[in-house]
Amino acid sequence: MRRAHLWIVSLVLVGLAGPQASGQVPAQELLSLARGVQARVETLRGLKARRAIRFELADAERVRAYVKRAMDEQYAPGEFAREGLAMQALGLIPRGLDYPGLILELLQEQVGGYYDPKGEVFYLAAWMSAGTQAPIIAHELTHALQDQSFDLDAYQERLRGRSDAMLARAAVAEGDASLVMLLDSVSALGLDIEPAALGLDGPMADLLVQASAGQYPALARAPRALREALMFPYIQGMAFVSAVRARGGWKAVDGLYRRLPESSEQIMHPERYLDSPDPPTAVSLRALEELVPEGWETIFEDELGEAMSLQLLAAWGADDGTARQAAAGWDGDRFRAYQRGAELGWAGLWVWDTETDAVEFAAAAAQELPLRWPGATPEPVDARPRMAWRLADGRASAVVRAGSRVALVDGLPPAAVEKLLGALLP
Ligand SMILES: [Zn+2]
Repeated sequence: MRRAHLWIVSLVLVGLAGPQASGQVPAQELLSLARGVQARVETLRGLKARRAIRFELADAERVRAYVKRAMDEQYAPGEFAREGLAMQALGLIPRGLDYPGLILELLQEQVGGYYDPKGEVFYLAAWMSAGTQAPIIAHELTHALQDQSFDLDAYQERLRGRSDAMLARAAVAEGDASLVMLLDSVSALGLDIEPAALGLDGPMADLLVQASAGQYPALARAPRALREALMFPYIQGMAFVSAVRARGGWKAVDGLYRRLPESSEQIMHPERYLDSPDPPTAVSLRALEELVPEGWETIFEDELGEAMSLQLLAAWGADDGTARQAAAGWDGDRFRAYQRGAELGWAGLWVWDTETDAVEFAAAAAQELPLRWPGATPEPVDARPRMAWRLADGRASAVVRAGSRVALVDGLPPAAVEKLLGALLP
C-alpha cells in the first residue's frame, strides 16, 4: 500500500553490503569518511554534485522524530489509520493490528541515516559503526545526487490512491541508491564483480527478506504483506535498476526519472518497461459512487498492482508459486473498502492482459477467499463464471469474471454484493 516516501536506507540491505566493524566513529572521522565516499559515488554513478552537500550528525532521537514528522506530512489526520483498516478489510494484515504504530516502528528500525530533500541536508546516524556507515553514506549520497539532478521533491509528491504507481517510483530511487551502495561495497572490498543484472526477483528476493528479518524485531513480527511492501523498492527496485543499467548504463538509469515506470508490474518484469511497454489500464470505480451499502461508509480507495495482488493471494493462504503465477498478467485494478461498526468489507475490480490471466486469478481467488471466513458456505452458481459464499454471520462474498475482468466483493450484505457486482461488471 502507500508508503511514506522517506528517503531512508534499509538496514536490511546494509547488513548484506559488507562486514561491519564495531565501535562508534568520532564526528570528525565520520565527516571525512563521508567526503571520501562522496568522491567514489560521484565517479561510480557518473553524477557530480551540483551544489555542496551538507552533512550533519543526528542522534537516534532526531532520526525517529524525522520519520514521525515525515509520516505526519504525508497523511491527512486519520487517513493512515483508514489505510490500515482497508488492509484489514482485504485480509492483507490481521484484524486489530496497530498499523500506524507498526509502520512507524518498522521505519524507525530501518533508518540508518537520511537525506532530507527539503533542507538538502544529509543526516548521518551518529550511533552507527564505521563498517556500517560507508554503505549507508553511499546509499544516501545517491539520493542527494538524484535530488540535485532530477528534483526528488517533485518526484516524491504523493499521488493519492495511486499506491502502485508510487511503489514503482520508490523502486527507481531506492533501487538506484541500493545498487550504487552494493557496487561501492563490492569495490571497497577489492572484489571485481560486475552484476550485469541481479537475479533478485521472485522467490529469491523473498528469501532475502525472510533471512534478514531475524535481525530486526519489528520486521520479523510484521505480516508478510507489510514486510514485502516495505522491502520492494530496495530489493525488486535494485534488480530492476540493475537490468536497466545492463542495457544502457547509468544514462539509461538517468532516463528512468524522465520516463517513470508506472506500475510494480514493470519493476517486477523489466521487459514490460524496456521492450514492450505495458502501461497500466486505468480502472475507475465511479460506478460505485451511488451504491454505498446502507449503514456502511466508504473508508478508503486505492490500487494494489501486481505486487500487492500477489501478496493478497498469499495472505489468504495461496502458496508463493500459485500467487505469483495468478498475479502475473495484471493490467490494472482498483478497490474500495467499507466499514460498518466493527465490520469491514470491500469491492475490487481487476483488468488482466488476457482472458487466460483473468481465469487464473479468478480461480486462485475463488480457491483462497473462503478460507478467510470460517463457516462460509458456497452458494449455487448461476450462468456467469462466478463463485459466491454466504458467510457464517449472514454477510456474503463473491468472485465473478467477465472476459478479462474480475470483480470481487467480500464481507458485505448479500443484496449489496449483488448490486456492487452489477455495477462493476455491467
Ligand atoms: Zn533510500
